[in-house]
Amino acid sequence: MFSTSEELEALRATVRRAARERIAPRAATIDERAEADPEVETLCWDLGLLTLSWPEAHGGLARDSGTALCIAVEEIARHCASSALLLIIQAVGSFPIIHGGRPELLARLVPRIVDRRELVAYLVSEPGAGSDVAGLRTRAVRDGGEWVITGTKVFATNGARAGVYAVLARTADAPGRDGLSFFAVDRETRGLSIGKIEKKLGMRGSNTAEVILDEVRVPAGNLLGEEGKGFLLAMKDFDMSRPAVGAQALGIAEGALEVMTAYARQRTTFGQPLASHQMIQQILADSATAIEASRGLVYRAAHQYDRGERNTKLASMAKVFASDTAMQVTTDAIQVLGGYGYMKDHPVERMFRDAKLTQIFEGANQIQRLVIARELLREAA
Ligand SMILES: Cc1cc2nc3c(=O)[nH]c(=O)nc-3n(C[C@H](O)[C@H](O)[C@H](O)COP(=O)(O)OP(=O)(O)OC[C@H]3O[C@@H](n4cnc5c(N)ncnc54)[C@H](O)[C@@H]3O)c2cc1C
Repeated sequence: MFSTSEELEALRATVRRAARERIAPRAATIDERAEADPEVETLCWDLGLLTLSWPEAHGGLARDSGTALCIAVEEIARHCASSALLLIIQAVGSFPIIHGGRPELLARLVPRIVDRRELVAYLVSEPGAGSDVAGLRTRAVRDGGEWVITGTKVFATNGARAGVYAVLARTADAPGRDGLSFFAVDRETRGLSIGKIEKKLGMRGSNTAEVILDEVRVPAGNLLGEEGKGFLLAMKDFDMSRPAVGAQALGIAEGALEVMTAYARQRTTFGQPLASHQMIQQILADSATAIEASRGLVYRAAHQYDRGERNTKLASMAKVFASDTAMQVTTDAIQVLGGYGYMKDHPVERMFRDAKLTQIFEGANQIQRLVIARELLREAA
């Protein structure tokens, strides 16, 4: 079983207080304006939450970085899931750089990301390649000491805000997922432009953009990891990020349960508080139970990751169960608040809209179930 160290508990207490006092009051406005809040971003940098996954020498943690990320994401997502997404995507985009960047590249990028606080975006999805990464069409062609990258990436979180991109491109005509490679690309590189900025149902405080690469030239040293092994790097990234998305969903569900419980205690119908009606109690009980089960899965998956153990199955279980729970709990929270839950005066309608994304991104839930079954059958063979 996993244990929670004193440092992790201290991190939770710090982020919980900061999220309650400094992020919660801004959450509705962030959603309404559909813009990230610079003060929230500065707060996250100040607390070290955007470098948790970097090695200790670069401002990150010596150990337990996967669990720490989940803790910070969960505590922020209780109040503002869009702000929690900032932490997830910074870790996801940084992963190929941390684990695949050569020393000279790291010497150039680390001061920008860690000290100058530049955001990192993760460019994998394309118009014809979301779940099916094998359908990826962005190409990188070697030209002397450079790679020339051409293609269109969609749905990039912080795509229009990042200073650095981790880009997955096809470097060989090998079938399917073979022949894909990651590259680090600077925002300022000639040929890189920002396309459509998406208008979204939820997570509206998070920027989502199309990024177009038109014969973008990067030095050969910007290749991340081994040529042709980019898909493997992406899969390892998922082992870290899927528990974190589970933590985001867990936080959303906890936030919704808190709101509906408080409401059920003060709202009266038929001469009694809502909370005394047994059908309402069933909703509260089922929500609390599913949340507790999500918490167990999320932190077990993160703990396995931190121990360097294969956590692919648990990471997918955590992501799928916690996100389905968040969708159910936020739907039920609106039901408990009745017509008031449907209005923007209460945060549950925002939580409901935000929850939906957790079932879709970092591998949609159908794909998570395929991964769980594949791992199960592999273990059985
Ligand atoms: C707000 C937002 C932020 C995002 N941020 C990023 C980002 O930063 N970087 C990035 O690279 N991508 C990002 N994405 C993309 C995201 O990861 C994809 O949307 C996701 O992987 C699903 O791909 P798709 O949308 O192309 O759906 P599709 O792959 O077209 O799938 C459509 C539906 O069919 C289901 N499906 C597909 N294949 C199967 C199958 N074999 N069996 C059963 N069902 C199947 C899927 O589960 C899904 O429900 C983001 C997306 C959103 C909405």
